[in-house]
Amino acid sequence: MGVCPSARMPLLSDNFTGLLRPWARPEVLTCTSWGAPIIWDGTFDPDVAQQKVGQQNLTIGLTVFAVGRYLEKYLARFLETAEQHFMVGQRVVYYVFTERPAAVPHVALGEGRQLRVEYVAREQRWQDVSMERMRTLHEALGGRLGREAHFVLCMDVDQHFSGPFGPEALAESVAQLHAWHYRWPRWLLPFERDVRSAAVLAPGEGDFYYHAAVFGGSMAALRSLTAHCVQAMRRDRGRGIEARWHDESHLNKFFWLHKPAKVLSPEFCWSPEIGERAEIRRPRLLWAPKEYALVRD
Ligand code: UDP
Ligand code: MN
Repeated sequence: MGVCPSARMPLLSDNFTGLLRPWARPEVLTCTSWGAPIIWDGTFDPDVAQQKVGQQNLTIGLTVFAVGRYLEKYLARFLETAEQHFMVGQRVVYYVFTERPAAVPHVALGEGRQLRVEYVAREQRWQDVSMERMRTLHEALGGRLGREAHFVLCMDVDQHFSGPFGPEALAESVAQLHAWHYRWPRWLLPFERDVRSAAVLAPGEGDFYYHAAVFGGSMAALRSLTAHCVQAMRRDRGRGIEARWHDESHLNKFFWLHKPAKVLSPEFCWSPEIGERAEIRRPRLLWAPKEYALVRD
């Protein structure tokens, strides 16, 4: 197997051969049909990735929403474990969006790391909280976040870091394989199938089912991703419909139309409820148990 081409990663493109070794994991898919790497534990050299980013003096943004009871339940652990594992040694800016800025826990931050709290109005329905993230992110990318970060990762808060999540995860655009669906045949994937929805994918369409709990990329890529999703959700709302998995359905449509430059294996966002899997060597993020009765109204 050859090394994946890296022409789509302008800022991190030089000599990716030093970083990636897709042959190290022959039992899993390490390259997409369009030539993007799917990174699994062992297929990259974290030190080389770290060095490259250090040389380029990049600032990495991490956005997370904590609205309603999600704040008390998940935010502290998410941030504390991010301090242990997320882009250690790099310049990092956390952006926490919440309707209660004063309630954001105080977390001791390492050198070169900052946390900004941004106010966001609370939506009534949890589906709207989730979907409104795209609009809020789009605005933020046009403001300070867009000016101070080179790359941004956008994450759900109901998870915590359990292993190193470093610059190897960065690229022009980044999508996360969904832990529950990566082994499923394409026709079974839970894409939106209603032809009235902007998120619709016809049978035979869709490369992978991506998880909206982790996505990222450059400012330009994320502006176009969030603009697409905002517009698509507005169109659906105008028709009185809502896609099956809300913002995630639209994200999946976007990545079908605009292929991600890098794909993260399910090790990067794993659900312990799935149980042991030989190919899941070192999970980076672990989902919290779904306690919807406690956190959703
Ligand atoms: N969220 C929030 N408050 C809510 C609903 C959602 O803060 O009332 C945010 C939070 O970051 C959460 C994300 O939106 O992780 C997506 O919602 P959720 O995790 O419940 O969706 P699921 O992972 O079940 O698809
Ligand atoms: Mn979640």
